[in-house]
Amino acid sequence: MTERLYYTDARCAHFTGTVVALEDDGRRVILDRTAFYPTSGGQPFDTGRLGSAAVIDVIDEDDRIVHVCDAPISARVGDVVEGTIDWTRRYDHMQQHTGQHLLSALLADGYGWPTVSVHFGALTNTVDVAATQVTPEQVVEIEQRVNALAADNLAVHVSFEDAATATGLRKASDRDGELRIVTIDGVDRSACGGTHVARTGEIGAVMLRRTEKTKGHTRLEFVCGRRAVARARLDAQLLGTAARVFTAAPDDVPQLVDAQQKRVAELERDRKRLLGELAQHQAQQLWDAALVDAHGVRRIALPAADGAVRDLESLVQAIVTKGAAVVLAVSPSTGGIMLGAGDGSGVDAGQALRSALQAEGGKGGGSPRLAQGSTPGSVQLSAVVRALGFSF
Ligand SMILES: [Zn+2]
Repeated sequence: MTERLYYTDARCAHFTGTVVALEDDGRRVILDRTAFYPTSGGQPFDTGRLGSAAVIDVIDEDDRIVHVCDAPISARVGDVVEGTIDWTRRYDHMQQHTGQHLLSALLADGYGWPTVSVHFGALTNTVDVAATQVTPEQVVEIEQRVNALAADNLAVHVSFEDAATATGLRKASDRDGELRIVTIDGVDRSACGGTHVARTGEIGAVMLRRTEKTKGHTRLEFVCGRRAVARARLDAQLLGTAARVFTAAPDDVPQLVDAQQKRVAELERDRKRLLGELAQHQAQQLWDAALVDAHGVRRIALPAADGAVRDLESLVQAIVTKGAAVVLAVSPSTGGIMLGAGDGSGVDAGQALRSALQAEGGKGGGSPRLAQGSTPGSVQLSAVVRALGFSF
């Protein structure tokens, strides 16, 4: 059975322990005692060094803790080894974890929203609370109140009490026997096996980032301590980058983005209107210049498009709207083809194009007035063009 040093001393970062078992050629090490925290209760494991090796995972196997190392440690069963945990990582976990206790206590007592689940991630953390919604105003208020509680610098202490007689727990424990209880003076008593700071002032800043609806609950994303400061720095940098694009002050960015979005929508509307007008002018020119055959039908081949034939759709439509004309547009680069047929032309564009394409292994179709399709290659495209009685 491994003695868990972190149960009674969360600040122990350096310790010695005796090797009681070695597995996987010395890559899995079990000691009589350890300060390494194994992944449990949502809190991630500690990393660090054990003897000659780096600890890359720590696993809780009921009554023993397994240190997973990157290489076999040079020690035998019975040897005493030194362990050092990565204190920066651990202290970060202590800040996030204690911050969560404080936040959950406030959300339950101040708002009637008990915590349903908790997740601690590498970058950010979340609590899911039994609330149908949390408004942006409430987020601001909760953030102010939880930071005020942290600044009160309340004592956080650990006690071991019998499950049958322990009182005032936020959530009844389903365990029997001895419970490890973490108390934040005057605010919270919770059964918990994790590591915590000694006073709430050590949590530092608590930043609520955003809320999200989950199955019947609300998820709040939060970060504490140095992580909150690092996140605020990153946010400021991102906003600064956006502000430089606008050559503006960061405070003016939201207003500028809004104004620019409206302007882009306006310009897009103008662009569509102008393209429509341009197509009308081009259609008139092509109509006037086209030769009229014996049946009074104009046959117009549009210049090859650089891009997709659908870019020429408004022009084709504008010509066939004028009357008896058959219009063909092709795009040699994409193999695309479009056929338009106006009233009195005697051509059904959909039928004509479909049958010409089928003969050459292409596909497409459309209405009697407008049809489009594609061909496998330039040879087939030329054949389809010829079949429709056009030449480019
Ligand atoms: Zn805890």
